[in-house]
Amino acid sequence: MKNYLQYAFAAVVLFTACNQEPATAPIATEAPAPSPYKDSEFTVQAILYHQFGSEYRALCYQGYNLATERLMAIVKAKPKGKLAIITDLDETVVDNSYYNTWLVNEGALYTPETWKQWTAESKATLVPGSLAFFKLADSLGVEIFYVSNRGVDEYKATLKNMQELGMPQLDSSHFYLKTTTSGKEERRQSVAALGYEVVMFLGDNLNDFSMAFEKQTNERRHAIADSLEGRFGKDFIIFPNAIYGEWEVALYDYNHKLTAAEKDSIRKSVLKGF
Ligand SMILES: [Mg+2]
Repeated sequence: MKNYLQYAFAAVVLFTACNQEPATAPIATEAPAPSPYKDSEFTVQAILYHQFGSEYRALCYQGYNLATERLMAIVKAKPKGKLAIITDLDETVVDNSYYNTWLVNEGALYTPETWKQWTAESKATLVPGSLAFFKLADSLGVEIFYVSNRGVDEYKATLKNMQELGMPQLDSSHFYLKTTTSGKEERRQSVAALGYEVVMFLGDNLNDFSMAFEKQTNERRHAIADSLEGRFGKDFIIFPNAIYGEWEVALYDYNHKLTAAEKDSIRKSVLKGF
């Protein structure tokens, strides 16, 4: 009898155990908990500056006001010249900070594929002051060449975007997009080879002005910028871009294989403090 009761008790315990959901049972279909640090989190402050800093807007106006003043003086001095200006597109003429917001929200880093998804939308907006300046250049009879590292496969969507923004001189002969190399020197030479005197360059990356800056350390880029000091605000008009640029890639020694964590560690280790 005692044995029978023992078996009955054990059976009840077993039955109860089998019918109880463990309180912390993992649910296989549930997504893993989000990482507390997203890979593009470090760009948030810079994006906020671009989108909300009136100081950013003022700097853009300052750049385009300088460009306007310089170009009018040049045209006045060379009324019969075959003059041209070379401009970058991204973060010089158009604002793509919305793509960077998307990266932050997705916890992702830039890839050419997601970038092209963004440009295919044709939704970039104007950098403050850009439209008025390029319309003025057009009215002064100055040729505008858009030398951009957007790929030739992005041309159609880029054209649509720029048409909707009201930019001038948009036929294909005015576009020099990236084919094989991101270096722009060859394309700048191609414009000069057409017989134009290129009187001004506009960009947000020093590589938009001279190939001397390409693939250099930031220390070297500083030295080259110092050596060209007199050209900024004259024939080199530069716009602020705190979100991305060669300066950031140079921090990583142009090593594109580093993980997000490794890049984060480099960024923190190079900071100068006291
Ligand atoms: Mg740019």
